[in-house]
Amino acid sequence: MSVQRQTEAKIRDLGERSKDIKTVLIIDDDPILRVVAESYFKSRGSERIESAANGAEALKIIDARGAGIDFILCDLNMPELDGVQFLRLLKERDYRGPIAILSGEHEAVVVLAENLATKHELNLVGALRKPLNFEQLDQLVRKSEDHLQEYDKTSLSDFKECDLKAALSGGQIRVFYQPKIETATGRIAGAEALVRWDHPERGIVRPQHFVPLAESSSLIEELTNQVIQTAIEDAARWRKLKINFKVAINLSVDVLYNLNLPDEIAARVDASELDRSQFIFEITESRLLEQDTVPMEVLARLRMMGFDLSIDDFGTGYSNLEHLKEFPFTELKIDQSFVAHATTDHRAKASVEASVSLGKKLGLRLVAEGVETAADWGFIAKMGVDQAQGYLIAKPMPMDALLEWYFEYRAKCVNGRPHFI
Ligand code: C2E
Ligand code: CA
Ligand code: CA
Repeated sequence: MSVQRQTEAKIRDLGERSKDIKTVLIIDDDPILRVVAESYFKSRGSERIESAANGAEALKIIDARGAGIDFILCDLNMPELDGVQFLRLLKERDYRGPIAILSGEHEAVVVLAENLATKHELNLVGALRKPLNFEQLDQLVRKSEDHLQEYDKTSLSDFKECDLKAALSGGQIRVFYQPKIETATGRIAGAEALVRWDHPERGIVRPQHFVPLAESSSLIEELTNQVIQTAIEDAARWRKLKINFKVAINLSVDVLYNLNLPDEIAARVDASELDRSQFIFEITESRLLEQDTVPMEVLARLRMMGFDLSIDDFGTGYSNLEHLKEFPFTELKIDQSFVAHATTDHRAKASVEASVSLGKKLGLRLVAEGVETAADWGFIAKMGVDQAQGYLIAKPMPMDALLEWYFEYRAKCVNGRPHFI
């Protein structure tokens, strides 16, 4: 087995991994270690992995990228500029991100370097001894992610209604797309539209930081309007390329209180000359418990008009068969918290099995979200889940990137099988 394969196999065994470490810098004079560490970060979804053979090379990268590095893995004994010198120069640059030391030096030297990093007030998350142990590295990376998430929470939770209002009128709302693949054929079934806020200072902001604010104010209607309009325009572009593509759009339960919603959507879709059946509306299961007749009427009419309806995050609420039967769903999306753990946790596995059996009984199309590894794919395909969506296939991306991805994916398929399995 190649080093890359061995690494990936090992990493799959480590269970659920979060993905907020996007840009990584690996500093080590040993090229094999760099390759092994690179494949570790690659497999856990980091988007950009830089590597340097010594401290001087690393500083060049840092100077070029500014603050945009989420994690540094640093050796101590290196030619030209060693790890101890590097830590001092890092301090001078006011670098705040997490750093882990990886060293083959005597323990006393490592402890000294740790103490120095602390004195420099650097964010040292820990020190590892060579050879590189994935479990230990994973622990340090997770620790760093917790740190980043905390930072995220405190820095992003302070959006105000007026900020979001300005974003909506100022054209800062974007739609990213994440593709879905048919497990039996490898065919691209379509994509889910996921909203993003292209914030002038904070960059691309994910929905958990502003959709709840939109829902608790009256802005969710305008936000949904913009997402639907963009999705229709983008779907029309696919149509021009003669690509048959289904687009899934998330609807908050809050917008289902507008009795005119089905007519408004139908009018817009019909004006674009797209087929209504090309659109799927996803509604989160847990919120549907609030049994009210208005959302029920709105969903029934959307379905009667020919749109698909999907029950999202399935398994996180308390639906039972009776409850589900009351709604005219055509698709069931198994929540990623079960999918991501199904191969390592028997309770998650049992939840997926129960969802599959329930969905099949009700004649629903089954979609697994959060498919991150080839093992996840293997499991859900064996279970008979119709479609897969997740980081294994692709992350959400802007429309132009999706088009590029589409052609690349098709070119790489081997006898209709995706190249990654
Ligand atoms: P969701 O509908 O469950 O969407 C799936 C989320 O999982 C997306 O997060 C996606 O980026 C993420 N994801 C996809 N594959 C993987 C994977 O393999 N691993 C992991 N860990 N995550 C994966 P995102 O884009 O941050 O969206 C979060 C939630 O925000 C969505 O969850 C949805 O509930 C909501 N949302 C997104 N767009 C809209 C929108 O236009 N309107 C409304 N009302 N809600 C939206
Ligand atoms: Ca969804
Ligand atoms: Ca979900």
